[in-house]
Amino acid sequence: MNIIAATKNEGKIREIEKIFGELGIKVISQEQAGIEIDAEETGDTFEKNALIKARAVAMLTDDIVLSDDSGLCVEALGGAPGVHSARYAGEGASDAERINKLLGEMEGVKNRSAKFVTCAAMVFPDGTEVTARGEVLGKILTEPDGENGFGYDPIFYSDELAKSFARADDDEKNSVSHRGRALRALYEIVKDAIAAKEE
Ligand code: IMP
Repeated sequence: MNIIAATKNEGKIREIEKIFGELGIKVISQEQAGIEIDAEETGDTFEKNALIKARAVAMLTDDIVLSDDSGLCVEALGGAPGVHSARYAGEGASDAERINKLLGEMEGVKNRSAKFVTCAAMVFPDGTEVTARGEVLGKILTEPDGENGFGYDPIFYSDELAKSFARADDDEKNSVSHRGRALRALYEIVKDAIAAKEE
């Protein structure tokens, strides 16, 4: 029985494989499983969107499906871009365009507090659904700093790491990140169910 990650985001896939790999669980991408679907994220919460993505792939496979819906919530912007993080600068925009838009909105803003949020969801072949959430606190920098990671990482200063996520290596980021926390919390809930499927 495979666990299929319901995402085409290469940055997320790399992190999911590593975080679950360290827990002794192999995850393959939906691309590796030959599943093409790209579900529309119509929910107004991370939980709803994570389940929308996982259910869409689960309809097409008998394997276990894992999904991740994430975003950056900026206090001074009332929690934006939040669930709209991927489409913040319009459909098809690049990471650099999203970063530039956010830096523009934050120009001259003193309160730089922000958090990354992930809701991880797992859907089992019998229809059982489990979700878990993870968060990491930080600040929005005034300019990009670092080359690692993906998405908004160059402008997110992690309070715990005392550097930007784009200056952290994969292990450092995963140890404190929203995604690391959500996936490890999810694992604690589902580990027995996964082990039973593998027997
Ligand atoms: P979604 O979860 O596919 O809706 O995408 C969320 C958006 O937030 C995308 O634009 C991602 O690049 C961004 N994002 C999600 N997780 C991270 C992260 O760990 N670092 C930086 N940006 C992220």
